[in-house]
Amino acid sequence: MSSLSDLQSRLDEASAAYEEFASRGLKLDITRGKPAPAQLDLAADLLTTVSGDDVFTPSGVDTRNYGGAEGLIELREIFAPLLKVPAAQLLAGGNASLTFMTQALTFALLHGTAVDDRPWGLGPHKLLCPVPGYDRHFTLAESLGFELLSIPMDDEGPDVAAAQRLAEDPAVKGMWIVPMYSNPTGITITDRRARELAQMPAAAPDFTLLWDNAYALHHLREDHPDNLDILSLCAEAGHPERAWIFASTSKVTHAGAGVSFFAGGPATVDWMTANLGKVSIGPDKINQLRHLRFFTDSAGVEAHMRKHAEIIAPKFDAVLTALDEGLGSDDLASWTSPEGGYFITLTTMDGIADRVVKLAAEAGVKLTPAGATHPYGLDPNNSIIRIAPTMPTLDEVELAAQGLVACVRLASFEKLMA
Ligand code: PLP
Repeated sequence: MSSLSDLQSRLDEASAAYEEFASRGLKLDITRGKPAPAQLDLAADLLTTVSGDDVFTPSGVDTRNYGGAEGLIELREIFAPLLKVPAAQLLAGGNASLTFMTQALTFALLHGTAVDDRPWGLGPHKLLCPVPGYDRHFTLAESLGFELLSIPMDDEGPDVAAAQRLAEDPAVKGMWIVPMYSNPTGITITDRRARELAQMPAAAPDFTLLWDNAYALHHLREDHPDNLDILSLCAEAGHPERAWIFASTSKVTHAGAGVSFFAGGPATVDWMTANLGKVSIGPDKINQLRHLRFFTDSAGVEAHMRKHAEIIAPKFDAVLTALDEGLGSDDLASWTSPEGGYFITLTTMDGIADRVVKLAAEAGVKLTPAGATHPYGLDPNNSIIRIAPTMPTLDEVELAAQGLVACVRLASFEKLMA
C-alpha cells in the first residue's frame, strides 16, 4: 500500500502530465469503429467492376431488374464457407446487417418465428445482453420494445448459467452475441461455450441466438481462431432454428455500401425470405455483382482482409504499447488484447470511467461515452471504456493513447486520494 505522501506525489505527477498533454490543443477521436480512408481505398476497384454493358451474373441474372430475394447465388457461395453456413441457407441483402437485424426482430414481433407463430410482440419480450456489448444492439432492441437483461461475459464468452436462469422466463426470446472479436472486448467465444448456448434449455420454444458475426473475417494476425459452425451445433443440440446469423462487408469493402448477410436453420431462412418478399422486390443485385467480381472467390476475400490487417494491426499495437508503458506497472487498469475486430476494452477502477471520458474530452481526445457498452447506457461499475483505434492515422492513435493514459492516471490517483 502506498503512503499518503507517495500517492500525493503521484497525483501531482499525473496532474502535470495531463496538463502538458491538454496544452497541446489536439483534436483526436477514437470513438467509432469506422474503417480508415486507407482501408476504404483498398476496395476502390469495386466501383468499376460493373459497367452498363456488363450487368449479367455468371448464371445469367440481369442484375438491373427486380427479383431474387435471396441474393446472388454466386456471391452467397463465396461467403458461405467463410461464415461456415451452407450457401442454400445464406441470404445476401442490402447495405447493412443492422437492417437485417431490425427486420428479423420486427417480423418475430409481428408474426412470430419459424418455430412458433405466436408474435413476440403480443406479450412482454426480453433479450439477454452480454456486457460489455454493442451499443446499437441495445438501442435497436430497446426501440422495438424489448426489455434488456444484462449478463456477464468472460474471456470464453457469455455466462451460460446466468443466461439459462433468466431464460426460464418465456418472455426471454433470445440473446445478442458477437461471436468473433466481440464489440467491444475483442474476445471470441469458445467452442465449448457455443455448444452450451446451443444446448441451453429455454422456456421460449423459439429462444434465438442473435449471432452477429460482424467481425467474422477481421483477423489482425496470421494465426487466428476459426469461425464456429453454430448452425450445426444448434442442429445437433435439437435446436436447428436457434441461431440467426448476421454479417456484412461493411468493414470489408465500403462501410455504408457493402452487402449484408443473413443465415439460419432451413425453416428460418424460408420464413425470412417469405417476410422479406413483402418488404422489397429484391435486394440491390448490382452492388452484389460488384462484390462478386471484386472478390472472385473466398480466397479473394481472405487476401483482401490481410491488407486490412496490415493497416490496422499497427494501430492496435500502438494502443496496447501505450497502455502497457503508461499503466502496466501500477495496476491502475486492465485491458483486452484482441486478435481481431475493431475494439479494445479498457477497464478502469470502479467509478471513474465517466471522469476519464470527461478529462479526455477536455484534453482534446474524444472517447465513446462511458456506459455506452451497457443496456440503457448504464455501466453499474462505471469502469468500461471502449477504444476504437481504426479510423485515425497511426500518429493520431499513438497520441490519443498517450492522452488516454494521462487521463486514466489522473482519475485513478484522484480516486485513490479521495
Ligand atoms: N454489428 C456489430 C457488432 C458492429 O460492431 C457493427 C458496426 O460497428 C455492426 C453490426 C454494423 O454492421 P452493418 O454496417 O452491417 O449494419
